[in-house]
Amino acid sequence: MTDTPDLEALRSEVRAFLQAEAPTGWRDASRTQDDFVATQRGWFAKLVKAGYAIPHWPAQFNGGGRGLAEQKVIYEELAKADCPRLLLSFVSTYHAFATLHECASTEQQAEYLPRILEGETWCQGFSEPGAGSDLAAIKTRATREMRDGREVYVVNGQKVWSTMAQFAQKCLLLVRTSSDGVKQAGITYLLMDMDAPGVSVRPIHQIQGDEEFAEIFLDNVEIPVSRRVGEEGKGWAVAQATLASERGLTLMELSYRMRGALARAATLIREHGHEEDRGVLRDFGELVTQVDAVCAIADQFLDNRIKGIERMGDASIVKNSYSRALRAYAKLGLRVGGMAEQYIAPITFGDLNTGNWMADFMNSYAWTIAGGSEEVQRNIISERMLDMPREPKGWVI
Ligand SMILES: Cc1cc2nc3c(=O)[nH]c(=O)nc-3n(C[C@H](O)[C@H](O)[C@H](O)COP(=O)(O)OP(=O)(O)OC[C@H]3O[C@@H](n4cnc5c(N)ncnc54)[C@H](O)[C@@H]3O)c2cc1C
Repeated sequence: MTDTPDLEALRSEVRAFLQAEAPTGWRDASRTQDDFVATQRGWFAKLVKAGYAIPHWPAQFNGGGRGLAEQKVIYEELAKADCPRLLLSFVSTYHAFATLHECASTEQQAEYLPRILEGETWCQGFSEPGAGSDLAAIKTRATREMRDGREVYVVNGQKVWSTMAQFAQKCLLLVRTSSDGVKQAGITYLLMDMDAPGVSVRPIHQIQGDEEFAEIFLDNVEIPVSRRVGEEGKGWAVAQATLASERGLTLMELSYRMRGALARAATLIREHGHEEDRGVLRDFGELVTQVDAVCAIADQFLDNRIKGIERMGDASIVKNSYSRALRAYAKLGLRVGGMAEQYIAPITFGDLNTGNWMADFMNSYAWTIAGGSEEVQRNIISERMLDMPREPKGWVI
């Protein structure tokens, strides 16, 4: 799709901003958690000010009100300029925004949305040790009580795999308020302060030395009833708004970033003297084709959405093709780089382009699970798109 004059103008505007402001050397400046957080906060603040941090928000917010085609231009340019992705504020600007925008009261929206732009970050407290793909199996319990004259939910339980919860001020929390009827029916959606008494956060130390996730333990945490989104027991529908928020656009951004990452692979091939190695060149050629295919799939997904066409399963195809290409990319880098690349940089918060091939390789496997596992995506594609028989109820792993 070629740019219209308006899109061309936007592209030049974003490019001019990035030429002046795009951070350089951010990978080396993000080796410790504190540095990572500082780098992320600084870049987010600059993008908010310039109007490029939240193009998908409504127009009343600075930089909001952009159509999908405009969003695509912004993400393409950010990817081309190799800027850091907004990992720290990702849950806030996508998941929290979508939830608040679509399901919260106007008071809740007025209270929370502006604070996101000021840098307040959210985490997502959905998964539990016994509830991931089968999210409706959550057991974290909330009972409604009067405490010191206030009506509150008293919450007890545990959440796991909560991305960057250790840095978050707020949490999108799914709890069980009833066990009657189907399991989806007893779920309630709450907005929790991470510094509330009874909340403890334990970062999870990962194989590559990173601590991208945390467990959240909830011990008699009091959450005012006014912090509930939607009705009691109707949180499952609200959770769908949260989960749908990252569908497509995030993957599109990542797909464009893969194009840029190919240059990194090409440099590695040259640096290690593999320009004449036919095996390496064949694999690189395959990877380039694969990345082109992922970008084409992501583009088609977006073009359809611009036309108002969205089929159940489309986002699953983008996701699975992206995660497959990511694994091929990281594997090639590790192979070509040889022993020199078989180390893990001290702290490298997960993304496809950390600057360390071993970390990228290990992180590539997180993408087989994040945002719904590959197997679950395949179920969606086969059942919802291809009309294949549904998996039997009561399937257990
Ligand atoms: C990078 C990353 C970030 C994450 N961030 C967050 C976060 O911020 N907040 C949060 O709450 N959670 C987060 N998660 C957790 C994520 O949502 C869960 O890991 C995911 O839903 C899978 O659940 P599980 O880990 O319990 O695995 P399980 O559901 O136990 O799955 C185990 C295996 O069984 C397979 N399987 C399960 N059900 C089926 C089925 N019906 N058919 C075929 N195969 C099946 C899966 O594909 C998988 O291979 C994150 C995970 C990752 C990897």
